[in-house]
Amino acid sequence: MKTFQLALLKWYDNHARILPWRDNPTPYRVWVSEIMLQQTRVDTVKPYFEKFIKNVPDIQALAILPEEELLKLWEGLGYYSRAMNLKKAAILITEQFGGQIPSDVDKLKTLPGVGAYTSGAIASISFDKSVPAIDGNVLRVISRLTANQGDIIDKTVKREIEQNLIQLLPSARAGDFNQALMELGATVCVHGGSPKCEACPVQSFCAGYDQGIAAKLPVKGEKKARRIELKTVCIISYQDLYAIRQRVDSRLLANLWEFPLLEGHLSIQECTEELKKWGITVDKIVPLTNAKHIFSHLEWHMIGYFITAIHITEHPALIWVTKKHIEQQYSIPSAFKKYKDILKD
Ligand code: SF4
Repeated sequence: MKTFQLALLKWYDNHARILPWRDNPTPYRVWVSEIMLQQTRVDTVKPYFEKFIKNVPDIQALAILPEEELLKLWEGLGYYSRAMNLKKAAILITEQFGGQIPSDVDKLKTLPGVGAYTSGAIASISFDKSVPAIDGNVLRVISRLTANQGDIIDKTVKREIEQNLIQLLPSARAGDFNQALMELGATVCVHGGSPKCEACPVQSFCAGYDQGIAAKLPVKGEKKARRIELKTVCIISYQDLYAIRQRVDSRLLANLWEFPLLEGHLSIQECTEELKKWGITVDKIVPLTNAKHIFSHLEWHMIGYFITAIHITEHPALIWVTKKHIEQQYSIPSAFKKYKDILKD
């Protein structure tokens, strides 16, 4: 066990990538980075993390940050509920934990958006607690190391892997050990059936390698197919203003702004009639490019129209803003990137 720990930690000391959150791993920086890294690639997160920390340097600043500014800082990163949970958690930390992020895993788990993995990551990396932090990379590495052929979607298999990891954790440098496993998964024991075993520091301990089955692991059951929703995006211009509205759906992209979005793929005539109900008289309507956006559980297949209006009446759901306002003030999620880019042109 000791030899395994030393081999992995030595490799980590020499090979860890330089990442902005690794330098000075305070609880706040680790927390923000771990939330940003959920479902998001390291290279995408780096500039967002640096900008976020520069603008919102601590819990207190986050607790009082206006929602619009928070969403603007998060714009393009996706999964916006993460940002809203960060703020809710900052308020809770201020009110219940004296403004300090707790070191205890159970207390950490009471924070909105913080689950088993994130609490383990904060407690081990920032407070050096000997607790596991199991993300997708770690699941894969441990399942290969132990030649576990169970389905990793299965909760029992996940628990088995967690138990394996708990036994492997050192009492000191647990945070580095967890990060070393994640790093190994990200750079050597990579997903996609081609682990780089020849470069692996723990190859001699690996049952999956030994049995020649590493590339086939982990076993992963079929995921449910994503639901497909058809949408029509309307970029409506009136003089030099454009219509946007705030989303009310509390589960998906809640509170963010969007170009008016209609259900289904509407024809030019259907779209014109629909807009008439909103008090918008269409002068010209031009089809735009199609776009697709993939969420974890559903896909939006979008068509779009650029609409020039000759008459508008006030509508409670719409506001009319300039291109500059859209660029600087309102957070429009990346689902609409193709359509937002059209305004830039
Ligand atoms: Fe992964 Fe190969 Fe290393 Fe085993 S030997 S942990 S399969 S990279």
